[in-house]
Amino acid sequence: MNKTEQYPVLEIHGDIIKQNAQVLLNECRSIGIEPCAVVKGFCNLMPITKELCRAGFKEAASSRVAHLKEIREAGLPVSTLLLRIPMACEIPDVVRYCDAALVSEPETIRQLDQEAAAQKKLLNVILMRDLGDLREGIFDRETFVRTAVWIEEDLEHLHLKGIGTNLTCYGSVMPTEKNLGELCENAKQIEQLIGRKLEVVSGGNTSSLPLVLQRRMPEGINHLRIGEALIVPWDLFYTWKCPREDMSNAALILKAQIVECGEKPTMPVGEQGINCFGSYRTYEDHGIRKRAIVAIGEYDMGNYEKLVPVDPGVKVLGASSDHTIVDIHDSAREYHLGDVMSFELRYQSMLFTTANPLVRKVCAGQEGQEDE
Ligand SMILES: *Cc1c(COP(=O)(O)O)cnc(C)c1O
Repeated sequence: MNKTEQYPVLEIHGDIIKQNAQVLLNECRSIGIEPCAVVKGFCNLMPITKELCRAGFKEAASSRVAHLKEIREAGLPVSTLLLRIPMACEIPDVVRYCDAALVSEPETIRQLDQEAAAQKKLLNVILMRDLGDLREGIFDRETFVRTAVWIEEDLEHLHLKGIGTNLTCYGSVMPTEKNLGELCENAKQIEQLIGRKLEVVSGGNTSSLPLVLQRRMPEGINHLRIGEALIVPWDLFYTWKCPREDMSNAALILKAQIVECGEKPTMPVGEQGINCFGSYRTYEDHGIRKRAIVAIGEYDMGNYEKLVPVDPGVKVLGASSDHTIVDIHDSAREYHLGDVMSFELRYQSMLFTTANPLVRKVCAGQEGQEDE
């Protein structure tokens, strides 16, 4: 081990990101879908965003205007799409830095039109339909269609680029042939009323990929917004049961150093109240076992259950803000104080580690520091 290495560190494996991206681009394009690359999940870390551009994405998307501003200012060859329906306070920046935005509220849409007029621009908008997940979008079908026609006919400085939906966020509702079929029906109705094709019918996020990979995506969906599966396809593989030999979850490897190592009981001793985050939790008594503390915590990576130890003999038992407790009893490897433990990530741990300035980021192979 290189003693001068500083932890925790997040290793970025560009080759894996590029491979994952190309697999998903090919799968989507083979059925007429052009996905955009969603960069919010990894805080728009530029080495990753650039790798996605190299893989062939033509559009980058984020919930945060700040990310899209960075992309514009870096001069990357992609158009920008804002995913979170705009706040009143960011409307000038939406028009300034975004080629397109997802929208739902008539009042916001009106303000965007006025701001676009003031900046002498034409802003593309994608009107969102809520198909039951109960996050953003217009819930009622007739109101939705009427609003789309209103944008087309009355708002000169907005271009109705298309319609979209978002699922599997608040309401945990999965995309299906039925609910996305409804979106395609809406598109046809709007197209008849406005007398032209919509450019985009956007059928959701990473959770819509099973329909693509299983060839069950309703015809008419021609756009998806994909972030998670490009970098951490863990849920795609295991939760949604679409494992792929040609993709990998190891694009981001979090490395942390062991600061305590030895045997302890598994059952806390004493009267039980709440843990450091004010929650009650339960513990199982497995007797005395070998365990370690690694110097990383929920401040760095979010919920400890979203860490995936690279060593299959390691189990994450719990974490506080700065300490994570791992069971190493069944590992084939003999761990010592100062050793470095590696973890793959899932969505939440990607979100937290990439955004945390106290987690150092390195591109694998670029500093000759692939130790261990
Ligand atoms: C975050 C987000 C996405 C991307 O989700 P992933 O799970 O990262 O693929 C797509 N659409 C909207 C509206 C989002 O907020």
